[in-house]
Amino acid sequence: MNGQNKRARRPTLVGPAPLLDRVLALASPYNSSLLLLIVFLVVIVVGLFVVRDLHSTNVEAQKMYAGSVLGLHRIGELQYQAQETRRSTFYALTTNDSNLQLEYADQSREADRRVNEGIGEYLRQVHMPHEIEVGKRLQRDWSDYLSVRNEVLASILEGSTKEAVNLDLKGGVPSFERVRQDLEEIKRLYDQQASEQLANVAATSRRTIFRLIGVLGITLTLASTSVWAIQRSKMLGTIQLAKLQMEFVASVSHELRTPLTVISSAADNIADGLVGGKDQVKRYGLAIRNQCRQITELVNQILLFAATKDRKNRYILRPLQVSQIMDSVRDNTAELVEGAGFVVEQRIESGLPWVMGDLSALSQCLQNLIVNAVKYSGESRWIGIRAFLHDSGEQSGKEISISVEDRGMGIDRLEMPHIFEPFYRGAAVSAAQIHGTGLGLSLAKNIAEAMGGTLSVVSELAVGSVFTLRLPMVEKQELEMASVNSEGDPTIRK
Ligand code: ADP
Repeated sequence: MNGQNKRARRPTLVGPAPLLDRVLALASPYNSSLLLLIVFLVVIVVGLFVVRDLHSTNVEAQKMYAGSVLGLHRIGELQYQAQETRRSTFYALTTNDSNLQLEYADQSREADRRVNEGIGEYLRQVHMPHEIEVGKRLQRDWSDYLSVRNEVLASILEGSTKEAVNLDLKGGVPSFERVRQDLEEIKRLYDQQASEQLANVAATSRRTIFRLIGVLGITLTLASTSVWAIQRSKMLGTIQLAKLQMEFVASVSHELRTPLTVISSAADNIADGLVGGKDQVKRYGLAIRNQCRQITELVNQILLFAATKDRKNRYILRPLQVSQIMDSVRDNTAELVEGAGFVVEQRIESGLPWVMGDLSALSQCLQNLIVNAVKYSGESRWIGIRAFLHDSGEQSGKEISISVEDRGMGIDRLEMPHIFEPFYRGAAVSAAQIHGTGLGLSLAKNIAEAMGGTLSVVSELAVGSVFTLRLPMVEKQELEMASVNSEGDPTIRK
């Protein structure tokens, strides 16, 4: 009959999984949000590069416009005004009308003023040594030409046209030719500058296009990877749940078959008259009773779980004293604890306030913890139960803590987040073939939360575990109201 605590070996849930699946499983609670956050951050970073590129293309284009295009425009204007200066001098040379000669001389001086202004502006704009050098040369050549031009104009106005023509041919033509060449050189410089800047703009635009393609590619890849990872983790979750449920069915069948076999063979022995004597009959009776209790316990757990899942569970909350709960738990677990030879060290603070709860649900919750302590204690035969007032550290003030401690096998750190999940069973306990359905802690936690409390665990492998149920204490007014109502219905239904 000892075999009732053993069951057939079945595959453990925490098996070697591919690295990716493990990572996904670890990150599963945050999976989708984490992946989307990463995608978002990557897109933002690459997007910032693209914006920077676009900005520099824009700046480059502006520079090109301000530097080369406007410069070329200014040089065109300068060439025109220089030609105008020369043309007006020519017109003055080719007429005999003194009024017209005066007018043309004025026109020539007006144009030369504009040329001087243009050269000054050019020199203010340029920074490169070569550009400055050409600018200064132009300034020099232009002033050389102007001094010849002034002499030419003076001769014309004095009426010596022939002398003016000679002066112009000798000094004016070559010096104007030098001015023309200077202007051509400046134009070439601007042309060169414009083509370099155009090449820069083209290169930056190309880079921006590549980066944009990159952003789209990365976004697409990351988005598809995220969707794939999320789908995969969901699928893994579903497979895991299906696996857990299959194991649960196998486990329950096994849990039922073992006591049924014991009952059936005991009944056969009695029916076949193989059991004689009062003592033997009593022993058989006790065995049948124990097995029946075990089956009832199992069926109750499953029904309770199903009711919790369907939200059909109705708890009847009423003010309870902690000692009431502890008495009920002790009565229900005494046989198991004593039968397994455990020492229970119980410390309940005196004068503890009342709690609001459902007596049978709360004792079921603590029973599950004690049954686990018995199952998972290994060689140790000690259970510590404590009940004390505890400062919750929140606005709600104080709460009552009931802890169940054992010095057993403890729980692996990686399994801690899963032990309260329905159907979950630890790898070590599965490997050790310790019986169970994986529902006890899930039920206990549901009950704790339905009573407005919490259930938590602190555990270390090979050292032991402490499960703590925390319940809010009942305020004095609530207690008074409950006692006033107690002539009617002292309970709250949840
Ligand atoms: P079951 O005990 O039927 O496996 P539970 O929901 O009660 O299911 O517990 C889930 C798992 O938590 C157990 O399989 C075991 O791995 C771990 N566990 C629970 N209580 C203890 C404990 N006191 N000591 C060590 N492990 C525990």
